[in-house]
Amino acid sequence: MFDKFKDECGVFGIFGHPEAANMTYLGLYALQHRGQESAGIASSDGKQVRISREMGYVADIFDGETLTKLSGSAAIGHVRYSTAGESKLLNAQPILIDCAHGEIAICHNGNLVNARELRDELVRQGSIFQSNSDTEVILHLYARSKARYVDDAIVESVSQAQGAFSLVMLTKDRLVAIRDPHGFRPLALGRLGDAYVVCSETCAMDLIGATYERDVEPGEVLIISADGVRSIKPFPPAPLAHCIFEHVYFARPDSYVFGRSVNEVRTELGRVLAREQPVDADVVVPVPDSGVAAALGFSEESGIPYDMGLIRSHYVGRTFIEPEQSIRHFGVKLKLNPVSDTLRGKRVVVIDDSIVRGTTSRKIVKMVRDAGATEVHMRISSPPIRWPCYYGIDTPTRSELVASSHTIEEIGRYITADSLGYLSQEGMLRAVTETRGFDRTSSEFCHACFSGEYPIEVATPSKTRQLPLLLV
Ligand code: SF4
Repeated sequence: MFDKFKDECGVFGIFGHPEAANMTYLGLYALQHRGQESAGIASSDGKQVRISREMGYVADIFDGETLTKLSGSAAIGHVRYSTAGESKLLNAQPILIDCAHGEIAICHNGNLVNARELRDELVRQGSIFQSNSDTEVILHLYARSKARYVDDAIVESVSQAQGAFSLVMLTKDRLVAIRDPHGFRPLALGRLGDAYVVCSETCAMDLIGATYERDVEPGEVLIISADGVRSIKPFPPAPLAHCIFEHVYFARPDSYVFGRSVNEVRTELGRVLAREQPVDADVVVPVPDSGVAAALGFSEESGIPYDMGLIRSHYVGRTFIEPEQSIRHFGVKLKLNPVSDTLRGKRVVVIDDSIVRGTTSRKIVKMVRDAGATEVHMRISSPPIRWPCYYGIDTPTRSELVASSHTIEEIGRYITADSLGYLSQEGMLRAVTETRGFDRTSSEFCHACFSGEYPIEVATPSKTRQLPLLLV
């Protein structure tokens, strides 16, 4: 409904807990923002791996009866928004297979850039695929591995994959967590009593009372079994490429991602934005929820008071009945409502995290102006998005990204704002890397959707195509 990049997937795994499936359910509940189309859990009781997966929200899919059937002390789970592969139940995860190495279930966050080549080769060799998800490729490679031991077969199969992958895998007696050598997607390791927990974001650990220990390192394979944890680093080293968009928008603000508080980063993005794109105004208003932290930072730095001029409804389901008589901007109104008393007669700075097509921003500016604002200035806490993502984020084609073919002035006119200002790329990287003794460098982040500098080369015809200028 909102004009945003769509988050990819969230993964969760637990080993050594008597209520493994229940904990996984709760972990997925906390990760629901990372994918709302399907969810699934696989569990193991040491003898057999069982699975349940459905289309829909975590809370709607699993009930007590289903979770009771997912017995055992180890489990993995997945929430999915379709990226590679269309959205249907066959593409839902975990994917479970039984092969010469035994049963194995897999959950994947990310996108393999060489999935098509690997798949074509496997099909030539006789493999029959049940889904069009890129993740299934890894299972076929695993099933075909001649390695003697399960761990070696897992490493051999994953070593052939290129791209973004944070994986959790479950066999009857072990949980395996793997992060690609670039570290595109987050994957955290924690403890819950004697149990081990791995998950995309630390907010999932908070809900179940687990303690964050560290990130699974880029290029690390963690094998967790009754014998303890074994860490191996079988991949050749590669330049780091943490997805900066996790900090800009995807991750929950109460999570730690790439070792850093998302809320703290977003607030800093707002502070830097205020320095780079100052404006005379009476009130700073966030587009909730993702613009809140940046708006607080903008307000703090600029001295302009912060207020909630837009209220978001959190109870909008995926399906609703559209009124027969069309109501203008119904979709946005369903989610956001302006607070007229806050906006009337004011010069308003609206803070949002990003602009993709510009369609929602245009509606928000109109909504704020209709509520009585005398001026509406839009400030964006990230640079213009000009390139699509090939590493596990659902992005529109390049021609649909308004900033790929329009100047900032043109976009400002299109969204009918009195002024429009974006954070610079340097400012974004500074905000993410340089606060409070944080020791990352800007070269450790992927920012390809802003810069076009792809850390792993992909075949992208749209990168070179000349784009038409739309009239706005
Ligand atoms: Fe993240 Fe953008 Fe890189 Fe994709 S292209 S991984 S969304 S920073």
